[in-house]
Amino acid sequence: MPSYICITCGTQHAESDAPPDQCATCEDPRQYVGLSGQKWTTIDALAETHEVALNQEEPGLVSVEVRPAFGITQRALLVLHPQGNVLWDCVPLVDEGALEAIGDLGGISAIAISHPHFYTSFVEWSVAFGGVPVYLHQADAAHVRRPDSCVTYWAGDTYPLVDGVTLVRTGGHFEGSALLHWAGGADGKGVLLASDTVKVGWDRKSVSVMRSYPNLIPVGPSALGQVDVLLAPLAYDRIYGAWPGHHIVEGAREVVRGSFERYRAQITS
Ligand SMILES: [Zn+2]
Ligand SMILES: [Zn+2]
Repeated sequence: MPSYICITCGTQHAESDAPPDQCATCEDPRQYVGLSGQKWTTIDALAETHEVALNQEEPGLVSVEVRPAFGITQRALLVLHPQGNVLWDCVPLVDEGALEAIGDLGGISAIAISHPHFYTSFVEWSVAFGGVPVYLHQADAAHVRRPDSCVTYWAGDTYPLVDGVTLVRTGGHFEGSALLHWAGGADGKGVLLASDTVKVGWDRKSVSVMRSYPNLIPVGPSALGQVDVLLAPLAYDRIYGAWPGHHIVEGAREVVRGSFERYRAQITS
């Protein structure tokens, strides 16, 4: 039986004979059903029209994208690490080219996903690399549409995956929304792989946190404060956002401080 993938959001659902009636992730107030209604595909159908492309972003970091664009244009980032490579977030397709290229880089030891909008084809990615664990935050367990034994729930605010690579749950967008702190990135100044937990603005010189980005639902002062508190102890100079090119190349701590100050002023005035 196929595991259907929602064309609008890319979420993969549990195996079923026929497509599900609806995509609960798109029905959630944070997302939306596409203008042409609910539509589905499968990973096999996707493989006929799309491919996975890899690109080195900086030493030790490789981006993984599906081309042409699909879903919410999810992309993943592979952190190369001597204790085992970590795939941050996930994309809807895994193909032979990706398997071979990532295999040459040492494979994948763990997959960790920021939040439910990236809960796509993680079972296929896990299986392709030997059944590696997929770390999802416990607080978002109700949003997992394809439960599987590869899923390893973590709880609390931080979780070290390998030395210098740590999951940090800030909440905000989703209760379990997380980012990945990579201490060795940016020549040792530190990097945040922020997904849209802390979203890089289109200007690439600001960030924001929203409960819903497409439906324009902001977070309140306490949720913003929680993100601020959890980022405060981290050393970082660079942020890679959820989408290609959405990066803050340097001075990211200052950008976060200034952006949160501006945000706070907007929502409390
Ligand atoms: Zn959907
Ligand atoms: Zn999202």
